[in-house]
Amino acid sequence: MNIILLGPPGAGKGTQAQKLVETRNMVQLSTGDMLRAARTSGTEMGKKVAAIMDAGELVTDEIVIGLIDEQLDGEAGGGFIFDGFPRTLPQADALGALLASKGETLDAVIELQVDDAELVKRIVGRAADAVAAGGTARADDNEESLKVRLMEYYKKTSPLLGYYYAKGELTSVDGLASMDEVEASIVGVLDA
Ligand code: AMP
Repeated sequence: MNIILLGPPGAGKGTQAQKLVETRNMVQLSTGDMLRAARTSGTEMGKKVAAIMDAGELVTDEIVIGLIDEQLDGEAGGGFIFDGFPRTLPQADALGALLASKGETLDAVIELQVDDAELVKRIVGRAADAVAAGGTARADDNEESLKVRLMEYYKKTSPLLGYYYAKGELTSVDGLASMDEVEASIVGVLDA
């Protein structure tokens, strides 16, 4: 069972993906995590995307489609969770084609619905929590790049809601409910 978690930055995609990894042995494919890993290990690609990520803009479709393509041949466990991918219509088309070429299907697209004011609070909170825990906040968890990230979401990613709705694949859940309630809603969709 392969699913997409869709929603703006801060909607809880990563948190919910982690739960599905633990409870259903699914494999989380987060392009954001892959890009951050590329930066940490200092690859050419990592260097190329650093400034774009810190500004909150999207990196090119080519880069993220390549990252996903590499992972699809790996261990699939209970299925893939696409977290933070696709984020543009060309990425959505590419994912469909990649899955089809490997004899795989896309079984659900789950939107985590959250309102904007709540998102800003969550992301600012996430940055503060990281610092309080003795770590450092993500470089793009600040209000400046958050505005850009939200705008990128509305301009480039939100059209995917219509795209998957029209394909009959979209289910929306209330992302503002408690973490456990959101998890229960997602499990309900997967077991339907
Ligand atoms: P995330 O951790 O999903 O919020 O991603 C962090 C950053 O990585 C984004 O703000 C983008 O700069 C980049 N990124 C992650 N996934 C994608 C994607 N599918 N397409 C383009 N850029 C992405």
